[in-house]
Amino acid sequence: MSLDNSYDLVIIGAGPTALTTAIYTTREDIDTLLIEKGAVGGMASVTDLIDNYPGFSKGISGLELSEELAKQAERFGAKIEYDEIKTLTDEGRVKLLQGVSEQYRAKAVLIATGTDYKKIGVPGEVEYLSRGVHYCATCDGAFYRDRPIAVVGGGNSAIQETLFLTRYASSIDLLVRSTIKASDVLQKELQKYIDNGKVKVHLGTNIVRIMGENNLVNKIEINQNGATSILNIDGVFVFVGLFPNTAFLKGIVELDERNFIKTNQDLETNIPGVFAAGDVRSGATMQIASASGEGATVALKIRQYLERNK
Ligand SMILES: Cc1cc2nc3c(=O)[nH]c(=O)nc-3n(C[C@H](O)[C@H](O)[C@H](O)COP(=O)(O)OP(=O)(O)OC[C@H]3O[C@@H](n4cnc5c(N)ncnc54)[C@H](O)[C@@H]3O)c2cc1C
Repeated sequence: MSLDNSYDLVIIGAGPTALTTAIYTTREDIDTLLIEKGAVGGMASVTDLIDNYPGFSKGISGLELSEELAKQAERFGAKIEYDEIKTLTDEGRVKLLQGVSEQYRAKAVLIATGTDYKKIGVPGEVEYLSRGVHYCATCDGAFYRDRPIAVVGGGNSAIQETLFLTRYASSIDLLVRSTIKASDVLQKELQKYIDNGKVKVHLGTNIVRIMGENNLVNKIEINQNGATSILNIDGVFVFVGLFPNTAFLKGIVELDERNFIKTNQDLETNIPGVFAAGDVRSGATMQIASASGEGATVALKIRQYLERNK
């Protein structure tokens, strides 16, 4: 880094994509800074067990994998700073990144900002955030040992997280807007908990509002095919999908109709020298193995870009 906070490469985010890129770039003496607004490891760091990442025959906890990736990148000289990038300005050979308080300069930029959880947008959701409303089972599931909860969603993540939560909750009301769309394997596993009475599935059901007492959730109003009723529960876990972390790039970098970043085959955006990889990229397959794969690919493309623009 020079005195004016300049780097060869600044990576926005420090999830599996960013950390893999940093392992490659720093090993090749490309001066690399990662800027992270939350937790190093991104979504992987809050995933309980990662069973499908190659090389770990017994699986590995998301936190452990994140720590190992970060250590490996730091061993080669990667630097990680905590800040949130608010905007990016293209000045040709130099890109300016404005953080909350600092400005960073880079010859090349990698956007690896991943995704965040979608909200359901009902009264009480914001008010009771972390006081009964949650989006991460690994982070908050243990607070609900022997207590009744509801889970919202019917896709793979919702069912996977419901299965995880069965180890804590006394009962789970699974609220599904239409039908369960999770894989057959997950549905088969879920059936065991439906059969033993731990999970009750409510199809065609929406939450109308989340209510509480003493600042803590204690019930929800639901609408099942037009009929409303109250469920007494202590917590609501919402898993209704993800949206890309690209709001700060609107009008700057070209996005697709779902706001994911468009790239060419070199994983470069419409701005030369600004690359995107991992879950935030249009067409990404949303797996840690593919995030790491894209991280490695983009590192090589960035090296070529830097060599061309010396
Ligand atoms: C519940 C759940 C379970 C999963 N289970 C598995 C699994 O078992 N196996 C598997 O392969 N995959 C799994 N995944 C998917 C996997 O976690 C992702 O594919 C992977 O983490 C994507 O990596 P990424 O680096 O592209 O993005 P992320 O992991 O999302 O990391 C992006 C990082 O960028 C940061 N960031 C965002 N905006 C800014 C900004 N403006 N400034 C600074 N930093 C910013 C974020 O804080 C975050 O840390 C799971 C995902 C979820 C949600």
